[in-house]
Amino acid sequence: MARHHDVIIVGGAVHGASAAYHIAAHPGFTGSVLLVEKDPTFQQAASALSAASIRQQFSSPVNIDMSLYGIEFLRAIGDTLAVGDDRPFISLNEGGYLFLATTAGVPTLTENHILQSSRGADVVLFNPTELAERFPYLALDDIAAGAFGATGEGWFDGYGLMQAFRGKARSLGVETAGATVTEILTESSRATGVRFADGETAFAGTVIIAAGTGTSALLQPLGIPLPVEARKRCIFTFACRDKLPGFPMLIDPSGVYCRPEGELFLCGSAPEADNDPLAEDFDVDHALFEEMIWPILAARVPAFEAIRQGRAWAGHYDMNLFDHNAIVGRLPPYGNLLIANGFSGHGLQQAPAVGRGLAELAVDGAYLTIDLTPLGYERILENRPLIEKNIV
Ligand SMILES: Cc1cc2nc3c(=O)[nH]c(=O)nc-3n(C[C@H](O)[C@H](O)[C@H](O)COP(=O)(O)OP(=O)(O)OC[C@H]3O[C@@H](n4cnc5c(N)ncnc54)[C@H](O)[C@@H]3O)c2cc1C
Repeated sequence: MARHHDVIIVGGAVHGASAAYHIAAHPGFTGSVLLVEKDPTFQQAASALSAASIRQQFSSPVNIDMSLYGIEFLRAIGDTLAVGDDRPFISLNEGGYLFLATTAGVPTLTENHILQSSRGADVVLFNPTELAERFPYLALDDIAAGAFGATGEGWFDGYGLMQAFRGKARSLGVETAGATVTEILTESSRATGVRFADGETAFAGTVIIAAGTGTSALLQPLGIPLPVEARKRCIFTFACRDKLPGFPMLIDPSGVYCRPEGELFLCGSAPEADNDPLAEDFDVDHALFEEMIWPILAARVPAFEAIRQGRAWAGHYDMNLFDHNAIVGRLPPYGNLLIANGFSGHGLQQAPAVGRGLAELAVDGAYLTIDLTPLGYERILENRPLIEKNIV
């Protein structure tokens, strides 16, 4: 006989696990949760391949608010997600993001800074003299200003965050299953459960889909088009002989990013827009580093002219081609079918806020803390893009 759960979550990486934890921890929830993951090794999950950095330097209020909550959550994770004496440690390093701008970029940087500050983000604007004092290893000839996250921005162990959510969720009674969901079952305007690859079914009061780049294929048979496609993003590491104290998560005006990773540095960039097809493999694009990223970095940080390359890997963004923002909440016409998808490269830091929001929606019927309505699927139906200008 098919099993019944109050909530079934499809996808057990950071977003599925955060939703599972937040629902199980919700004081108003007394039901059962099943968290389904097709690959419990998470080899291809974005959550395991991420640059795992967090910033408040966004251009949309909802993204800023989510990351302000995200950093608060990450700072307290040892207490919040402890299981008995086992306190998760995610190596949070609040090294700050530094967005550099040429003269052309100053109006946007300034406008974003005003918005970020008004919402409580600790971002400071530096002129070139101040930048040179604080970051003497940067070449700044073409730079007119920089915005630096003095606190609240940095990087952490993303895989550790995912596992901490999973461990805590299990300790609160969430059942985990290693299985592939092949179909979302529905009846008129309700989701009723899921079908697994072996043909078995499980029924649910609420179904949440957090299946990363696998989400669009699950929704297609329901007639719900999702403007989300997989896009390959590569990460390269390297060692540099010189010590560069206080090196931030540097965002070059070209879009190339670079930050410390232990004793090494980690960097990446989106490829050219006309060379960014649907991602099908996880092969590293070494030419991207040789021909684009390294020359840009070596010009910006002369010490990077002499480096030793380390490990490199590729992951897939669940890229929202409509407006580069997450799609979170109910999927009309199904009142009990919820989604967390389309994170476009900034989803790891949003997992605490999105999981909490989905728990509120599932248990209380509405958002009670951060209003995630701006991220709703309705904006796609109504052709109202919520453009995020700061995509890295
Ligand atoms: C290279 C790279 C760098 C990034 N850098 C950052 C960063 O610096 N900061 C940041 O905040 N974000 C970053 N991101 C984005 C972030 O990692 C993702 O937004 C986030 O991890 C998405 O989590 P998720 O749980 O939604 O999806 P995923 O981690 O992709 O997990 C989806 C899970 O669903 C499972 N699944 C899929 N289909 C099914 C099915 N049918 N049945 C059962 N299970 C299924 C998959 O196996 C997978 O484990 C980066 C991503 C990449 C790829």
